[in-house]
Amino acid sequence: MRYISTRGEASPVTSTRAILTGLASDGGLYIPEFYPVLGQEELAALKDLDYQGVAERVLRVYLTDYNDRELREMIAKAYGENFSSPEVVPLRTFREKLGFLELWHGPTSAFKDLALQLLPHLMIKAAEKEGEEGEIVLLVATSGDTGKAALEGFKDVPGTKVIVFYPAQGVSEIQEKQMVTQEGVNTYVIGVEGNFDEAQTGVKALFSDEALAGEMARKGMRFSSANSINWGRLAPQIVYYVWAWSRWKKDGVLSAVECFNVVVPTGNFGNILAAYYAKRLGIPVGRLICASNMNKVLTDFIQTGIYDRRREFFQTISPSMDILISSNLERLLYELTGRNAERVRELMRQLRDRGCYSLEGDALRELQDEFWAGFATEEETMKAIKDSYERYGYLLDPHTAVGYKVYQNYKERTGDPSPTIIASTASPFKFNQSVAGAVMGEEKSGVKDEFKLLVELAEFTKSEIPANLRGLAEKPVRHRNVVSPTQMEKAVREVLGL
Ligand SMILES: *Cc1c(COP(=O)(O)O)cnc(C)c1O
Repeated sequence: MRYISTRGEASPVTSTRAILTGLASDGGLYIPEFYPVLGQEELAALKDLDYQGVAERVLRVYLTDYNDRELREMIAKAYGENFSSPEVVPLRTFREKLGFLELWHGPTSAFKDLALQLLPHLMIKAAEKEGEEGEIVLLVATSGDTGKAALEGFKDVPGTKVIVFYPAQGVSEIQEKQMVTQEGVNTYVIGVEGNFDEAQTGVKALFSDEALAGEMARKGMRFSSANSINWGRLAPQIVYYVWAWSRWKKDGVLSAVECFNVVVPTGNFGNILAAYYAKRLGIPVGRLICASNMNKVLTDFIQTGIYDRRREFFQTISPSMDILISSNLERLLYELTGRNAERVRELMRQLRDRGCYSLEGDALRELQDEFWAGFATEEETMKAIKDSYERYGYLLDPHTAVGYKVYQNYKERTGDPSPTIIASTASPFKFNQSVAGAVMGEEKSGVKDEFKLLVELAEFTKSEIPANLRGLAEKPVRHRNVVSPTQMEKAVREVLGL
């Protein structure tokens, strides 16, 4: 399997090369040159496998440059004791065939762990296979969860450094504390005075800075990306949608021919794209339901075909979805335009220069056939947390609650009774201020000390605080650097000694 660029000007590469580089040299994103399909027998065999087994069956069709033994070893390291559930990704099913796919049992309590516990292994092995000896410098822009997950994944991994930029005022208290207390000899955490899009734009500029790349090369260093533009992030995310289906088949929730819908709380469009790839792999997914918060650029796009990022930016209680430039959408555009790289280049140029672009005709129709989109306001999100707690006794974090609310809207508007899986993207304890406010009473929303709330929420709901969040308040701060977006390059040079 080779990987091609969505902009069509870079040469096709191996999976190992795609993972090592992250972004293609023409600025495009790598995608598989064709979509593999699992046969009926292979699909049927999945339900007898554990998570690691399913991961192997899925990843081997995309990452063909690793042999089965290598994949198995890497998967065993990535999805072991570091996950608090032996199932890795438990699927909680409630009546009406509604399932919550709990993607947050990893070391940072958000779904990013599923990819970022595996990516370092994929990358180190890729460097070995490609004969790359220098140091890999992971440059990460985060809206809150990716940063911590990347830091945990790569900490103390020989031959790597991780530099994380996060919006200094745009993440929750717990998210910030998780990052600034990060241990490891190769980890660097830097706040940016700006929002996520500014941090991401700064990181993209650093990636394409040829002078900097040259200086780094002379010192035996190269950049790579741990953001979801890296194929090595997306491939592991396909696994859990296949896994969810295999669980429902095993438990008899789905009849022989039944499809299920997937709802994904969406920001950078990586997670929902992985569900789309699972569908292309042969998993009977019906509608892909894209859920946004007030930053509803994707809702508007899917409903009208017009992508317009020139709009007010809202800081919400689901900060990991506070994004107006969804990078991974480019991969979908490539498919929607009939794999027309020239058209993708044109659309991306319009997005950069004018802040908008539009799709019409067949491309738009296909988009709307595959995807349905909606958004939830802040108030609706809080109500959704309360509603799920009252109805199922089940706590949702605000991101997952956005998904739950949009799912309710979808059902109401379309009447579609299909079984549905909602991607549950974070532990409710990671965003406890909103969660406590929703289930314990409004006065809790005003409580500034998230760490005190952690304990109160656990007692009130009789549930357990994830281990990684338990001792967080007492951990010493190790990273204090905050810079303006224009100083990001300087900060990187300092870390790298350039
Ligand atoms: C990253 C994240 C999202 C958004 O996922 P994308 O792949 O960027 O669309 C949603 N919820 C949580 C908790 C996240 O960390």
